[in-house]
Amino acid sequence: MSSIFTKIINKEIPAAIVYEDNECIAFRDIDPKAPVHILLVPKKEILSLAEVSAEDKALLGHLLMKASEVAKAEGISESGYRVVVNTNKEGGQEVPHVHLHILGGRQMTWSPG
Ligand code: AMP
Repeated sequence: MSSIFTKIINKEIPAAIVYEDNECIAFRDIDPKAPVHILLVPKKEILSLAEVSAEDKALLGHLLMKASEVAKAEGISESGYRVVVNTNKEGGQEVPHVHLHILGGRQMTWSPG
C-alpha cells in the first residue's frame, strides 16, 4: 500500500516542496520540530532504512548529498543541523517510506527522546 509520501511524490496531496529531482523530493514537515524541518524522501518506495539493499547504495549517497545541499539552501549549513532517519518501531518511525529529517535553526540537544 502506498504511504502518504507516495501521494506527495505523485502530487496527489499538496506539500511545501523545496527540492525535487528524478530520485528524491524534499518538502517541509507538516508538524515541524525545529525552525527548519525538511523531509527528504526517495521516490523509490523503500519501507525503512532496514529494508535497503546493495542496489540502493548510489541512491543513499545521493540522499546524503542532497541533504547537505538542502541544508545549505536553507541557510543552516554553517550554524549546524541534524539529519535523522527514524527506523521501525523503536526508532520512532511513523511513515513506512524511508526518509531523512533535516532539522536546524536552533540548538539541538542530546540525547534524543
Ligand atoms: P517519522 O516519524 O520518522 O516516520 O516521521 C514522519 C514525519 O512525517 C513526521 O515528522 C510528520 O510530521 C511528517 N508528515 C506526516 N504527514 C505529512 C505531510 N502530509 N506533509 C508533511 N509532513 C508530513
